[in-house]
Amino acid sequence: MGEINKMSKRTNKKQSGIVRFARYYKPHMGLFMTDMSCALFMSIVDISYPLISRYALNNYLNVSMPNYTPFFMLMGACVLLYILRTVATYTVTYLGHTLGVSIEADMRRDVFAHLQKLGFSFYDKSRTGKLLSRCTNDLFDVTELAHHGPEDVFISIVTFIGAFVAMLFIEWRLAMLLIFTVPLMLLFVMKLRTHMSRTSRKVKEGVAIINADIESSISGARVAKAFTNESYEIEKFEKGNSIFIRSKRAYYKTMGMFHAGMEFFTSIMNVLVLMFSGLLIMKGKMDNTTLIVFLLYISSFTNPIRKLAAFSEQYAMGMAGFKRFTELLDTEPDIMDADNAETLSDVKGNIEFKDVSFAYETVDGEKIKKVLEHLDLKITAGETVALVGPSGGGKTTLCHLLPRFYEVLDGSITVDGHDIRDVTLASLRKNIGIVQQDVFLFAASIKDNIRYGNIDATDEEIFRAAVAAEIHDDIMRMPDGYDTIVGERGITLSGGQKQRVSIARIFLKNPPILILDEATSALDSATEARITAAFERLSKGRTTLVIAHRLSTVRNADRIAVIDDRGIVEMGSHDELLQRGGEYKKLHDAQNSFYLIK
Ligand code: ADP
Ligand code: MG
Repeated sequence: MGEINKMSKRTNKKQSGIVRFARYYKPHMGLFMTDMSCALFMSIVDISYPLISRYALNNYLNVSMPNYTPFFMLMGACVLLYILRTVATYTVTYLGHTLGVSIEADMRRDVFAHLQKLGFSFYDKSRTGKLLSRCTNDLFDVTELAHHGPEDVFISIVTFIGAFVAMLFIEWRLAMLLIFTVPLMLLFVMKLRTHMSRTSRKVKEGVAIINADIESSISGARVAKAFTNESYEIEKFEKGNSIFIRSKRAYYKTMGMFHAGMEFFTSIMNVLVLMFSGLLIMKGKMDNTTLIVFLLYISSFTNPIRKLAAFSEQYAMGMAGFKRFTELLDTEPDIMDADNAETLSDVKGNIEFKDVSFAYETVDGEKIKKVLEHLDLKITAGETVALVGPSGGGKTTLCHLLPRFYEVLDGSITVDGHDIRDVTLASLRKNIGIVQQDVFLFAASIKDNIRYGNIDATDEEIFRAAVAAEIHDDIMRMPDGYDTIVGERGITLSGGQKQRVSIARIFLKNPPILILDEATSALDSATEARITAAFERLSKGRTTLVIAHRLSTVRNADRIAVIDDRGIVEMGSHDELLQRGGEYKKLHDAQNSFYLIK
């Protein structure tokens, strides 16, 4: 079953860009067909007009025998035809763009949903700005292509063939003459096209770099100011900016050649037609009417080629954008539910790490340095276990393995005896609450930020959680109470307040397993004391893993594990470890003397 799934995914990837692109039209067939019918009508009008003119010239416009009534009736019909063509133009512009935007929205929905699926290791390696660019700029070109592409190709081919057949019928020698210039033009178009797609890809990359630079600089604006490094930031930015100018210039150079070349071909066609018709007229083999009609046809002949050329430009841009879009879509999440994953329910909270080894992936996808090696740790339900040790020892890593933010390299982790790889991610993560040092608040009201712990919570439940997390009073003092909007990163809240918001979230979530990762490290002792009360309330009856920098906060834990780069080196209660006089005692004494000196 799993193999089949993987296989179908692989063939999916092998499908050419065009086929994948075309699939996006499927839900919008109605719009697409209306758009195309209008486009067809426009082509028909364009092809018929010279024919109608020819008919009028030949049959009614005679000085000796004027034929007013049918002539003006025919002209009236022409006006009607052009009114209808105007409606068609309106429809194509309006509905066509709507079609493009609908397709863009579908693609953006897909890519956004996919981004939600990708795991920690993907976000470790990606730059936010570049991702942003893929969801916005890249897709804009795709929209343009989605809308104009099929329509332009369709109108062009119909008009081109229609005009050619009409010209053959009127004066085949001139028609043959014109058709022979077409291969030359096509050769020219093809030659520049490859160049154009390469340069347009570079432009896209340039835009992505700029976006990433801007994103990084804006999020780091405060650091830049603190170090008065604004001019350094500007210099750094200028690098990306000049790469952008260079690639855009290369692109415009090709575009210049393109437009100039196309114009040359069009003008030459005009001259050729005049030259050869002149010859035929002088030899008495053709009349003036035919010349006029042919001159009218030249535009129906060159416009499609011009359109196709524009299309090839658009195609290059759009496909480059689409390719980057599919690249992102094809990045498979490294951690997914197993095919027969069960739902983890009625969790007691017995946790066991068995012979666990783990290493982070480097940028080129290798896993070299092991952060954890052959680690064993057993935690019984309801127990509070503290992890202490030097920073960089792998405490956070250990905690991130439990909700499967990263996958273990070796060994296994079980919750109530179930290997975490055999249960669904959603059910596993629903049962684990994490409070970290760095709290992210969404740009929304404080109430919605708390609600994030349980989207279905009622206001009443939110208030209760806030009270339990000791943040209620603070919120009541805010200008709009629970409806106060907190900034993108919760700028208006202090560190301690943000911390308590995140505790309130966990109260709402109410998971049987709790992880507190240096949750109080950034806070002063007075605030910490307040939050510790909330934590004690929170961890009651839950299996709790606490990481703390200050040993004073973990002394009440049932067991304390000392972790350094060798793994767990000591374990026991506070008193036991002190008595043993090992690593823990060293840490303890170091901190005590540190605080005494302070
Ligand atoms: P602790 O929480 O004990 O301070 P961590 O678990 O955060 O330690 O880090 C352990 C080691 O793993 C460190 O050497 C750190 O540089 C590395 N590390 C942490 N997070 C990542 C990551 N996302 N990608 C690569 N290496 C990481
Ligand atoms: Mg840490």
